[in-house]
Amino acid sequence: DSKSSGRDTARFFTPAMNARAQQRQQVESCLRHAIERGELWLAYQPRIEAGSGRTIGVEALLRWHSPELGAVPPAEFIPIAEESGQIVALGDWVIQQACAQHDAWRRSGLGELTVSLNMSAVQLRTSGVPEVLRAALARHQVNPAHLEVELTESTLMETAEETMAQLHALKALGLTLSIDDFGTGYSNLNYLNRFPIDKLKIDRSFVQQMLEDPAQLAIARAIIGLGHTLGLRVVAEGVERPEHAQMLHAARCDELQGFHFGRPMPPAELERWLRSQRPAELVAA
Ligand code: C2E
Ligand code: MG
Ligand code: MG
Ligand code: MG
Repeated sequence: DSKSSGRDTARFFTPAMNARAQQRQQVESCLRHAIERGELWLAYQPRIEAGSGRTIGVEALLRWHSPELGAVPPAEFIPIAEESGQIVALGDWVIQQACAQHDAWRRSGLGELTVSLNMSAVQLRTSGVPEVLRAALARHQVNPAHLEVELTESTLMETAEETMAQLHALKALGLTLSIDDFGTGYSNLNYLNRFPIDKLKIDRSFVQQMLEDPAQLAIARAIIGLGHTLGLRVVAEGVERPEHAQMLHAARCDELQGFHFGRPMPPAELERWLRSQRPAELVAA
């Protein structure tokens, strides 16, 4: 009845929830100055070509060290930045930074690594994003073939028709489009045919349970088969153990990423890591 639901509603605002709302508020207000105060940086995680064991690319992952809040993980501040709209400025910063880093690495002779960056649905929907990318690629003389944009499956589902033109505008720049966290977004698989995408990234939940759960291995294999049938490259994320790498390689997965090969690293550490690397041995054992 209405009396008890009224009481439930009153109880809904618990002290814990108020604390959470305050925390959100605090993250949002600290984030407002994070760019200008130089509190953000990009970590880079290696991506390995399964066939050769060579590092062919890196994924840029946003890091924030706030003097007030300490290190805040992206899983915490990105959803808040998406709601507040701050993600657009953050995303622009990521694009500039990743292109500048690519340029620096090319000049220092580290070779033509592909850099991938994550783009939120909110940013994809802003009309200016193709131009921001085009200008950053030009300014830093990045070959568009060496830039990848990762969009989550839910981003694509959520934005459906209105984003189609945006995706084509990004594709027209010559970069690679991947679907991140593939297999977790309740996808209508029809979209795979309609969107101009190049790559699937199998969500790490499938990889991480592959050894214990044959059904998860079957799903990973099915995703690889589906991707290849559609002419897409397939990447696995969350490769933590040598057995994961071997099984995925045997299943013809094209690229591998995970703690087994390397964690996300600051640029200088990644450079040392790259210089000390020999191709990973995947087929051994
Ligand atoms: P994602 O794009 O799927 O990135 C992969 C996440 O898995 C990263 O977490 C990475 O550190 C982690 N990871 C990599 N290898 C392994 C592994 O072997 N085992 C495990 N357990 N984890 C692994 P991170 O850096 O905390 O980022 C979380 C998410 O935040 C990202 O997921 C992405 O959705 C989002 N994100 C990160 N940077 C950005 C950004 O610049 N822009 C946007 N819009 N989102 C970002
Ligand atoms: Mg990603
Ligand atoms: Mg992912
Ligand atoms: Mg993810």
